[in-house]
Amino acid sequence: MTHSFRDRLYRTNAIVLQIRDFGEADRILVVFTQGHGKISIIVKGARKARSRMGPYLDYFSEVALHLTRGRDLDVVTSVTTIHQHPNLRTDIDAFGHAAHFAELVRDLTQERQENPRVYELLSSSLSLLNDGIDPWHIARHFELGLLITLGYSPQLFRCVTCQRDLDAVPNRFSSGLGGMLCDLCAGQDPSAMLLSINAQKYLRTLSRSGLGSVIGIKPSAFERNEINQAMSSYLRHVGERDFNSLRVLGAMQRAPTPGAV
Ligand SMILES: [Zn+2]
Repeated sequence: MTHSFRDRLYRTNAIVLQIRDFGEADRILVVFTQGHGKISIIVKGARKARSRMGPYLDYFSEVALHLTRGRDLDVVTSVTTIHQHPNLRTDIDAFGHAAHFAELVRDLTQERQENPRVYELLSSSLSLLNDGIDPWHIARHFELGLLITLGYSPQLFRCVTCQRDLDAVPNRFSSGLGGMLCDLCAGQDPSAMLLSINAQKYLRTLSRSGLGSVIGIKPSAFERNEINQAMSSYLRHVGERDFNSLRVLGAMQRAPTPGAV
């Protein structure tokens, strides 16, 4: 069956996740689109000095694309910038976090599976990073929101095994079982990590009430580290892989010691 040229044209908003050079002067991009999920596209002549489109398709840019369906890769025919996020290119910490979001979306979503909620989460998180909001809070909100949206919501409110209400004491978080364990069930996963009362409260508040309700909370360095470890471990379990961006972010943060603020 053949399609007319008009049938092969479409338009979608997209966020650039990954860029690599291809051939003499082209680039292949992985983008997350509003209407078609994650797709790979080709930008012909993007590396030429006079390219009309190349400069607009930088990392984490949000753009409106016109595309033509190709045999292997869809071809970009025009680009309009929606959000360029210029501050992400001058703030190394914000850039590292944006790279983390892009890697998670790239690795945890399937090709051409539409998911507007993932798009909105990524779009709003990049804008908040660009606006200079504390990347640590944005990142935890992004990670938890992405996990929930993709169907991997961790059980934070009750024991994931016996459903008993959790006592207000340090409890263990099991990545393998997907949530908190009560004292009686703690032995079911020897690798489960202990979370302080404050770390548990932070994650519950974030899950129940969103970013606005945690932005004023100032977890200690120790509590931040606990939350980082729990989220990283669960992401690695869900993704069945390590994430480069988690290693980079970990290296960027000084290892805190218990009790440090
Ligand atoms: Zn239990």
